[in-house]
Amino acid sequence: MSAASYKNSPQKESPKVTAPWGIYVHFPYCRRRCPYCDFNVHVQPIPHTRYAAAVVAEMGLRADEAGEGPASTLYFGGGTPALWRPEALARVIEAVDARFGLRAEAEITVECNPEDVTEALLISLRATSVNRLSLGLQSFSDETLRFLGRTHSAADNLRAVATARRAGFDNLSVDLIYGVAGQHIEAAIEEARAAARLAPHVSSYQLTIPEGTPFGRRAAGGASLILDDDLQATLFEGVRAALTAEGVIPYEISNAARPGFEAVHNGLYWADRGYLGLGAGAHGFDPRAASRWSNLTRPDAYLEAVEAGRRPEAFREHLDPVARREERLMLGLRRDAGVSVEPEDEIAYGAAARRLEREALLLRAPGLWRVTPRGRLLLDSVIAALLAP
Ligand code: SF4
Repeated sequence: MSAASYKNSPQKESPKVTAPWGIYVHFPYCRRRCPYCDFNVHVQPIPHTRYAAAVVAEMGLRADEAGEGPASTLYFGGGTPALWRPEALARVIEAVDARFGLRAEAEITVECNPEDVTEALLISLRATSVNRLSLGLQSFSDETLRFLGRTHSAADNLRAVATARRAGFDNLSVDLIYGVAGQHIEAAIEEARAAARLAPHVSSYQLTIPEGTPFGRRAAGGASLILDDDLQATLFEGVRAALTAEGVIPYEISNAARPGFEAVHNGLYWADRGYLGLGAGAHGFDPRAASRWSNLTRPDAYLEAVEAGRRPEAFREHLDPVARREERLMLGLRRDAGVSVEPEDEIAYGAAARRLEREALLLRAPGLWRVTPRGRLLLDSVIAALLAP
């Protein structure tokens, strides 16, 4: 299917203006598990065709939870969705287009690890209308990559970006992890600069150590795996400054882009828009019903449920108006542009907001709140203080 085929989407003919919404497809398989990863990932043989058929069938089971009009985004995350055979992935895209429609300018992203990037794979992805790649480079230091248990090298990273460019992917995002114990501040900042020169979108994350992972067990045993808080704060600001200096402008706590390359799909999350989650362990949110859910995480349980015609649901909750408001503020404050403030937000949280303003953690303008640079460093505490009863 080419991008031109979206012109045939029945929904596109509709003159009605509909709210943007997106589709997230979770591909829960990886070649191996990285020692810091607590995502829903399984290392087992991949049932390419069967999993695609299940995701397509789930679209039918969840049709009433999709947004109105064609989708603005389609995001394949994981796991490692680049391991999915391109024809299986193409089948899912075609089914999305046939059932829901995709806007002509829809952002269609696939996450890839550098070691999986080949010219043949990317040509196949281009042929399926994928127009954005998110590359998990993580670092340009072989030492850091080894420490993180990654199976690619810094040279693989450069090769993957060059291959993506040759295959015509200009809309590239790269992921970086920083704050690894022993990492030199200037070296980590230089990595951010290098990333900004390679791609118009950079997601940079401090290494976190989730419990239950191999890193979590090492940390519980006393190992020091991350830099201390002061160095992390210095790095956070240094990385943002380096990206800005290269023209890749931070627009969210972990994301920066050249103008026009901001992530549309993740932008839906931060703007409190709806998204349909499909696949094992995927999450979904329907703002009209104030309802969110998550799917069964184990691929076999997911497949069996869908094949039996059941929604593969593990969890669902209905958000009351207070929870909805809190979530909107929490997500919106992640953005550098801040969050729109409704009169009822002022009533509920105005006193706390004024207090945070006096502490130079929050900026208040008519109808808008946003965190200061210092507030950004303490974002979790600022949000907790704002929303505290
Ligand atoms: S490749 Fe990504 S999703 Fe897979 S185990 Fe590593 S960090 Fe987790």
